Amino acid sequence: SVADPQALIEGLNPAQAEAVIHAGSPLLIIAGAGSGKTRVLTHRIAHLIATGRARPGEILAITFTNKAAAEMRERVSALVGPAGERMWVSTFHSACVRILRREHEAAGLRSTFSIYDAADSTRLITLIVRELGIDPKRFTPKVLAHRISDLKNELITPAQFAETAQTSNPLERHLAEVYPAYAARLAAANALDFDDIIMRTVQLLQARPAVAEMYRRRFRHILVDEYQDTNHAQYVLVRELVGPGASGAASPLTPGELTVVGDSDQSIYAFRGATIRNIEEFEKDYPSARTILLEQNYRSTQNILAAANAVIARNTGRRAKNLWTDSGDGAPVVGYVADSEHDEARWISQEIDRLSDEHGLRPADVAVFYRTNAQSRALEEVFIRSGQPYKVVGGTRFYERREIKDAIAYLRAVDNPDDDVNLRRILNVPKRGLGDKAEAALAEHASRHAISFGLAIADAAGALREGAGEAGAAGARGAAEPSEPPAVEGLTTRARNQVRGFHELLTSLRHMLAAGDGVADILDAALDSSGYLAELRASDDPQDATRVENLAELHSVATDFQGANPDGSLADFLERVSLVADSDQLPDAPEQDQGQITLMTVHTAKGLEFPAVFVTGMEDGTFPHMRALAEDSELAEERRLAYVALTRARERLYLTRAAVRSAWGAANAMPASRFLDDIPEQTMEWKRLASSSELLRGSTGWGSGWGEGGFSGRSSRAGRSTRTEDDDFAPPVGAGTRTGRLGRVESAKDRAAKRVEARRAR
Ligand code: ATP
Ligand code: MG
Repeated sequence: SVADPQALIEGLNPAQAEAVIHAGSPLLIIAGAGSGKTRVLTHRIAHLIATGRARPGEILAITFTNKAAAEMRERVSALVGPAGERMWVSTFHSACVRILRREHEAAGLRSTFSIYDAADSTRLITLIVRELGIDPKRFTPKVLAHRISDLKNELITPAQFAETAQTSNPLERHLAEVYPAYAARLAAANALDFDDIIMRTVQLLQARPAVAEMYRRRFRHILVDEYQDTNHAQYVLVRELVGPGASGAASPLTPGELTVVGDSDQSIYAFRGATIRNIEEFEKDYPSARTILLEQNYRSTQNILAAANAVIARNTGRRAKNLWTDSGDGAPVVGYVADSEHDEARWISQEIDRLSDEHGLRPADVAVFYRTNAQSRALEEVFIRSGQPYKVVGGTRFYERREIKDAIAYLRAVDNPDDDVNLRRILNVPKRGLGDKAEAALAEHASRHAISFGLAIADAAGALREGAGEAGAAGARGAAEPSEPPAVEGLTTRARNQVRGFHELLTSLRHMLAAGDGVADILDAALDSSGYLAELRASDDPQDATRVENLAELHSVATDFQGANPDGSLADFLERVSLVADSDQLPDAPEQDQGQITLMTVHTAKGLEFPAVFVTGMEDGTFPHMRALAEDSELAEERRLAYVALTRARERLYLTRAAVRSAWGAANAMPASRFLDDIPEQTMEWKRLASSSELLRGSTGWGSGWGEGGFSGRSSRAGRSTRTEDDDFAPPVGAGTRTGRLGRVESAKDRAAKRVEARRAR
């Protein structure tokens, strides 16, 4: 059931159609938000297959989230039939993990390698910092982790860094010690961190021409969405996969056809090393490239577009775009000035009710965005109270909750006996009398005998050492016959017994794995036999009850996985867990059901669209973020972020701000966001122009300069930092969704009526 190629072109505008049909040279599609870039990519893939120009197996399509990948595969399959299943449609990370698993030998990895997420990496760096005697207060593991990540995104190896590091700079000097130690520990633990996944693949392709050649022959068509958010490592990866011919070098192989789409105005991941250089210099990198511009926006109304265009127009050094729509003005962009963040949340909740009553919008049609995760709490409180169904995408990341990490650590330790970080994490979890002293004794033993922590545990348990040739670090010891292990010094008899018990537990779980038991069963056994669940159940701390619920949820994730992948291994499951992106948790627009209101950060909203969008916290210090106020380049990134936020809306866009916002127990007066000043008056309608106290003071909003009058001017706030560093630095990895549980007891109308009553009574 392959589609008719002509049908794939119908309904596209001429520029879109050209982009779908184009053949023979690299193709760059640059265009503003909502102009159909992703749609063109999807149709182009379907067209390649329908015309026979490519077989599905020859296509590699890269998207930004797993959710976007699943959507794209689904759409292409709908257009071309089941053959679409053989395409590689995935994120950079998923594609690279796939390559590394297949080529693990060439890449110098064991097939069972683990993937460490950001928290694992930081934990490992904490250990190293402690061992090297570095002051963790001055040089925090987090900062060091961030710097190492930057280096990897730039493809700088520990050895290369050692050559260029400025030893006069204390941070660089420590980094030059920590980075190689970290790399060695990852290697010993048979683990890769997130940045390694890309870097190791690049190194593999560069070091092994035969492997590179094989993938170049295989992927004749490479398509990348959201190209503006690629970093240097990803850029080089694409270049390696396309092959040398594409950039003009002589090559026996015709280069793969490369299509990239993006919008430099939507580049919002600079803090993770993304650089718009890649999109801006595409024509230099690939001199034969063809560039196609798309100018018609199909997503939003004219008013929404005018507001978004006005905000982004203030950035300097950008290519001006001429984005237009023929969908009419639509409703004005609505503004609202609330007294506080609670008032803001209340108003939004009421307005969503009104939209549902008067305009038939379902909760699933509505999204509420905020700049930083912490802002979701006030909104959640109101939605819970009003009984409106909602979900938080990204906020408290499910996979970053302690109990989930513990359970995953058990699974990882079972899967990879050399996974030191995870073994150390669970050594005394639940408490089994193996505290810091026992851990130190085991670590000391491991380093003295140059074996992994896992083998030190085996030694302490008195397990006979197996002969050489076994998997694991057994090679390091080289004995041909099973032999008595060397004694582990510094362990009490009691500790030794406990280690033995722990070792037996791990061994029995590994037997289950070897016997082919499913992930959910192994998880059950781990949580039961370890006493982890029993401890939580025995506790009367209500939080522990929640933890049990969360573990139950993990259990159903594992069961679902088992059902969907009867042949899936534990390693596959752990890989899935490591790679799920936040937006993966979005529901697939259930038809019968009204769905839920989506709460998310602007970063997470990239590429998505909703009929109605609320952008909250439009305040200087909130959005743009406090940290960006003093720095031009950061302010420019905040502006792009605002552009992304505003352009998610299809029919209705709301911009709200709170005159007073609390953070860390203090109430701060917040001036209006400077972005509001840029929006043309005639596209907006203000439902409330100023807060109660601003009204009392006679400040009426328009033209009277919010922020200058009222509580305080901008400058007086600029130095005060009220947010933690990582509020918005969380990468879209590790999934989390909180769901409001209370059922809807009253109809939206009932509640609205009650509210009106209450207001009259006042
Ligand atoms: P973003 O920059 O936000 O990622 P985009 O450029 O990728 O946006 P799409 O998501 O592909 O834009 O398209 C935006 C909306 O416009 C989608 O709902 C899409 O189906 C619709 N659309 C795109 N092109 C057309 C067209 N030619 N006719 C009708 N609808 C279209
Ligand atoms: Mg898109």
